[in-house]
Amino acid sequence: MAEPTRPATTTDAGIPVESDEHSLTVGPAGPILLQDAYLIEQMAQFNRERIPERQPHAKGSGAFGRFEVTNDVSEYTKAAVFQPGTKTDMMARFSTVAGERGSPDTWRDPRGFALKFYTSEGNYDMVGNNTPIFFVKDPMKFQHFIRSQKRRADNNLRDHDMQWDFWTLSPESAHQVTWLMGDRGIPRTWRHMNGYSSHTYMWVNAKGQEFWVKYHFKTDQGIEFFTQHEGDQMAAADTDYHMRDLFEHIAAGDYPSWTLYVQIMPYSDAANYRFNPFDLTKVWPHGDYPLIEVGRMTLDRNPTDNHAEIEQAAFQPNNLVPGIGPSPDRMLLARLFSYADAHRARIGANYQQLPVNAPIVPVHSYSKDGAMAYRKVTDPVYAPNSKGGPAADTMNYGSPPTWQTDGEITRAAYVSHAEDDDWTQPGTLVREVMDDAARERLVDNVVGHLLNGVTEPVLQRAFEYWKNIDKNVGDRIEQGVRAKQDEKDPKAAQQANPARSSMQAKA
Ligand code: NDP
Repeated sequence: MAEPTRPATTTDAGIPVESDEHSLTVGPAGPILLQDAYLIEQMAQFNRERIPERQPHAKGSGAFGRFEVTNDVSEYTKAAVFQPGTKTDMMARFSTVAGERGSPDTWRDPRGFALKFYTSEGNYDMVGNNTPIFFVKDPMKFQHFIRSQKRRADNNLRDHDMQWDFWTLSPESAHQVTWLMGDRGIPRTWRHMNGYSSHTYMWVNAKGQEFWVKYHFKTDQGIEFFTQHEGDQMAAADTDYHMRDLFEHIAAGDYPSWTLYVQIMPYSDAANYRFNPFDLTKVWPHGDYPLIEVGRMTLDRNPTDNHAEIEQAAFQPNNLVPGIGPSPDRMLLARLFSYADAHRARIGANYQQLPVNAPIVPVHSYSKDGAMAYRKVTDPVYAPNSKGGPAADTMNYGSPPTWQTDGEITRAAYVSHAEDDDWTQPGTLVREVMDDAARERLVDNVVGHLLNGVTEPVLQRAFEYWKNIDKNVGDRIEQGVRAKQDEKDPKAAQQANPARSSMQAKA
């Protein structure tokens, strides 16, 4: 068979190189010469190959595809990407949250579900998760939350004691922790999980009417999960199982898809709805706001360069196109700043010029210069100008999505709505959504997690936390942990919890 014709290797400047194998030396036994510019380029580039990993969502991968609108939702939004019949190229990145870039895909953790739509009105990004809720509702606590899930200062180890310390002192985490400790805490693959906007956004239709909206991307492959044992086994057998699964299925032509549904809340419902609709730790029950189909996203193309197309992909929830806006969700409002800021720090000021991040529409911004700028800027470099430079099209764009607000500047909790508390919705999840077998697995998962390094008084607080969610489940978790402690070391169990020992003595 004839050898395929291959291009000649060049330096990064396009100059043909003399050898891929041998450095330039003074005779076969002599020293390497500094003038071997190709060798130096290879070594220097290698030293700079890694960019800082994401903090959090470091481990992940993704693929490209398209979003196709299948239903008419134009009465709720004028966004071009959601108009009937529209097809939009897009990409998705899936990830774990707490682990580093090499960490196992099947650790128990929420999964990132980040989407970028290359729309005719510029890029629209949705930075979601595979959970409809989150651990905290105020961005002031986000950094602390993530640190509690990552590594200790002294031994650099992850630490369940630190995780439960934070969770039990932050009761608003109960809904997401219940979700995480349940079956969906370890999806079988990225193809077998849903994605949610989690945040509430605003939609605005062509008449200027405003609605609140939540997105649900339901997997067409069906929900599948790993038990803790299966997840642990897979973590040891194949660290990259989810990444491999997605790549191999797309390569084989088995394209995963998700159907997008939205929940729509009329603007004026928000003030008196039974839950605060902007609280990221709450869902809107489907009975109150049913799912409305919008369209389907299908992933059918793998990256060819994971670094250039996935690692350098930069999603930012402030990329909102006309017809879509933010809501008073405080976590969302903070993320509108923090994501773009993270990309500037991680990739550089001109990250939006990279091919994977660049929109399909022409860019006419006044941003200029900075490291690695390659979009050519032309005069005039200021606005307003009378020299033919871009001018904002206020007539066509209209006023931005907005909401009424009034009040003193303050640091305060959200206004509570009639049924707002931290325990009701996780209690519903445990009692009404999970069946007996799922509840049994939930108890086992929590018992196993707590037995892995959680100490008093955090342990006692964890039992109270679960009893607040569901008395029966809380009791079973306490009994499960105490039984295992007794089995392992009865003396130490007594010392750690004398109150319980005296109760046992009385009994
Ligand atoms: P519904 O019975 O209408 O919805 C229950 C939802 O729970 C379904 O979307 C289902 O997803 C999902 N679900 C099923 N098993 C699990 C599990 N082990 N872990 C997490 N989610 C699961 O009830 P409501 O809308 O009244 O909500 C009841 C509770 O369900 C909520 O308190 C919340 O905890 C949970 N939930 C609600 C969602 C919402 O947006 N309303 C979304 C997801 C969860 P699927 O259809 O894919 O099977």
